[in-house]
Amino acid sequence: MANKKPEWNNAMKNEGLDDMTLLSKVTNDQILDNLKKRFEKDIIYTSIGDVLIAVNPFKQIPIYTDEILEDYVGKSRIELPPHVFSVAEQTYRSMINEKENQCVIISGESGAGKTETAKLIMRYIAQVSGEKGSTSNKKVEHIKSIILETNPLLEAFGNAKTLRNNNSSRFGKYFEIQFNKTNEPEGGKITNYLLEKSRVTWQLNGERNFHIFYQFCKGATKKEQDEFGIYGPENFAYLAKGNTLDIDGVDDVEEFQLTRNAMNVIGITAQEQHNIFKLLAAILWIGNIEFKELPGDKSQVSDQSVLDFVSQLIEVPNNFLKTALEFRQMETRHGNQRGTQYNVPLNKTQAQSGRDALAKAIYDRLFNWLVLRINKAMENPNKGLLIGVLDIYGFEVFDKNGFDQMVINYINEKLQQIFIEFTLKMEQEEYVREGIKWEPIQYFDNKIVCELIEGKNPPGIFSILDDVCRAVHSQSEGADQSLIQRIAVCKANPHFDTRGNAFCVKHYAGDVTYEGPGMIEKNKDTLLKDHLEILQMSGNSFLTALFPDEIDQDSKKLPTTAGFKIKTQAAELVSTLMKSTPHYIRCLKPNDVKKPNVFEGPRVMHQIKYLGLLDNIKVRRAGFAYRTLFQKFLERYYLLSDKTCYAANMIWKGDPLSGCRAILASQNVDATHFQIGKSKIFIRYPEMLFSLEETRERY
Ligand code: ATP
Ligand code: MG
Repeated sequence: MANKKPEWNNAMKNEGLDDMTLLSKVTNDQILDNLKKRFEKDIIYTSIGDVLIAVNPFKQIPIYTDEILEDYVGKSRIELPPHVFSVAEQTYRSMINEKENQCVIISGESGAGKTETAKLIMRYIAQVSGEKGSTSNKKVEHIKSIILETNPLLEAFGNAKTLRNNNSSRFGKYFEIQFNKTNEPEGGKITNYLLEKSRVTWQLNGERNFHIFYQFCKGATKKEQDEFGIYGPENFAYLAKGNTLDIDGVDDVEEFQLTRNAMNVIGITAQEQHNIFKLLAAILWIGNIEFKELPGDKSQVSDQSVLDFVSQLIEVPNNFLKTALEFRQMETRHGNQRGTQYNVPLNKTQAQSGRDALAKAIYDRLFNWLVLRINKAMENPNKGLLIGVLDIYGFEVFDKNGFDQMVINYINEKLQQIFIEFTLKMEQEEYVREGIKWEPIQYFDNKIVCELIEGKNPPGIFSILDDVCRAVHSQSEGADQSLIQRIAVCKANPHFDTRGNAFCVKHYAGDVTYEGPGMIEKNKDTLLKDHLEILQMSGNSFLTALFPDEIDQDSKKLPTTAGFKIKTQAAELVSTLMKSTPHYIRCLKPNDVKKPNVFEGPRVMHQIKYLGLLDNIKVRRAGFAYRTLFQKFLERYYLLSDKTCYAANMIWKGDPLSGCRAILASQNVDATHFQIGKSKIFIRYPEMLFSLEETRERY
C-alpha cells in the first residue's frame, strides 16, 4: 500500500490509537484513556471508523497549514492520521465519485469546537476545489471568497460570549455549497435556525450581547458616532446587563474591520451598511429608554430626549412612538362586530417588556435579512451537487433554562436521532436484511425524548405550549400557571417530570430543568400590533421592508408559534440530511475553563457516554467497514480474478455472486474478513479493500 506519510506524522505516531475500533478492550475507560493520551501529545483527532472525534485543544496547534492540507488531497481515510481535512477530503471525493449530495454533521456541546471545525471544512473545500489547470474562473473565486467571508459576518451578528464559550453561536446554521459540473463551488445557501434574540436585551452575568454591538460601539467612525449617537458600550443599557464589555484576547475594533470587510466582499452596499448600522444604533437607544411609574399603575417615558433620538433613528414621529410604548391599544367587541379602539395604560414592567420586545423584533428581522442578503450574493440557478455543513448550537444546561435552551436541546436531540439512524440502526437493519451473521448491540434510542418534545399523539411539550397559547390568546395572565397544570400529562413519558413551576426533561445528554414562567410568551412570539403599526409607518424603507406582516385586525387566527416553526424547520433539516451521504464529526470539550492542556476526565467521560461512542465502536467492530452490491464489486475488481473465467470480450460468464467469489478466491482473501449477504458483499476491514485497489492498479 502506498503509505507515504509526511514528516509531521512521524512525531505523532505511537501515541494511542488512531482508530478506536482497534482498542484491545472496548470500554468507556479505554476510550477516555486513549483520548487523554493523545490530547496530552496535542493529537486532538481520533477516529471510530469513519466518524471523527475531535477534542478542542483551546490553543493553536500547527496542524492546519497549507502543506498539511495538501497532504490530505486525494488520500483515503486510512492513509494519514485522522484529521478534519481527511473528513473534508472524503466528503468532497464522495460527492465527485458517487455523484451524490453529501453532508457533514458536526455535533458537540457548547464550546466543543463545532464552528471552528465547520470553518476548516469550508476552507479545505474552497482550497482543493477548482485546482490548478481546471476551468476555475473569476466567478468561482468570487463565490469561494463570499463563502469564506460569511463566517466572520454571521459570527459578528449571531455569536456572543457566554459562560461556556467566548464565541458561542446563538443561532443554528446549515450551509450548503453548490458545485458546478467541474466540481467547483458556484453558489451557496444558508438556512438559519432560531436566533436567541432574548440576548439583545438581557445577558447573564459574565456574558455579552452579540459581538457586533461591541464592535460597533468601539470601532465606529467619528461620522457614525455623530450620526448614530454611538459611543463606548458602557453607555448602553443593553450591553451592560452581563457586566462584561470585553473578551480576553479579542480586539473588537479589529474584529469590526473584519466584519466590514466581509460585508464588502459579500457585496453589501454602502447604503445597506448604513441602514444596518442605523438600526443597530436604534436598538441600543431603545434600550436606553426608561420609564417612571405614575399613579394608577401607569408609566411614562422618563427622558424625552432619548425617545426623540430613537424616533429620529427609526423615522417614526415621536408622539406615535411614545404612545406605542406607554399604552396598549384595545378594542371593544360585540360578538363579531368590531367596536371602538381605546388605549390602556401600561405599568412600568409592562412598558419595559414592550420596549424590549420591540428591540428584539428589529434585531431578529435584521439578522434574517442578513442571511437572505448573503444568500442572494451566493444565488445560483443551476441545480448541481451539494455539500452541506451543519453547525448548530450545542446542547446546553444553565442554572436556569428557558424556551431557548429547550429549542437548542431539542435540535441536538434530533441530530442524535439521525446519528443513531445512520450509524447504529440502519447498519444493524442491513445486516438483518442481508442475513449477515453478527452480534446485535443494545443502544439507547432517544426517539422517546424527541416524541416527548415534538409528539402530536400523545401531545408533546410543543403541542401543549401551542394549546395553552391558543387558550390564553387574549389574556396572557394565568398562562404560565395553565401550562404547568396541563404539561403534567407528559409524566406518562419516563423522560419527563415536573418540579413546582418547572419541568424536567431527561435528554440523551443529561437532565435539564426548564422554567415554566416565560415559556408561553416566548412560544407566542407575536409582535404587538401597536409596534407593528409604528414600524410600518416609518419613513425608513429598509425598516418597513423588514416588517411586511399583515396586521391581523380581528386577532382571530393564532399566528405561527416559535415552537411550531422550529419543529417544522427541524423536520425539513432532518429530511435534507437523510437524503445526503452523512459524514460525522463529534466534538468534545476537554474542560469547562476554556484552557489549553487541561483534560477533565469526568467531563470528557460524560460526553463519551452520552454521545454513545462505546456503542459506535461496538457496532463498527461487530460490523463491516464496506459493503457493495455483487455487481458493483465484480465490475470494479473483475481484473483480479482468474482470467479463464472470462469470455474473450471480458464479460463474466456466470452470475455476479460467483464472480465475486472468484475474485476473492484468486486473491486468497481470508474467509473471516468478508461475508456474503443476499445482494451485497460485506468487507470487514478497509485495509483489505485498499489492497484490492492496489492490486487492481498494478494490472
Ligand atoms: P457553540 O455551541 O457555543 O457555538 P462551538 O462548538 O461552536 O460552541 P467553537 O466556537 O467552535 O465551539 O469553539 C470554541 C473555542 O474553542 C474557539 O473560539 C477556539 O478558541 C477554540 N477551538 C475550537 N476548536 C479549535 C481548534 N481546532 N484549534 C484551536 N482552538 C480551537
Ligand atoms: Mg458555534
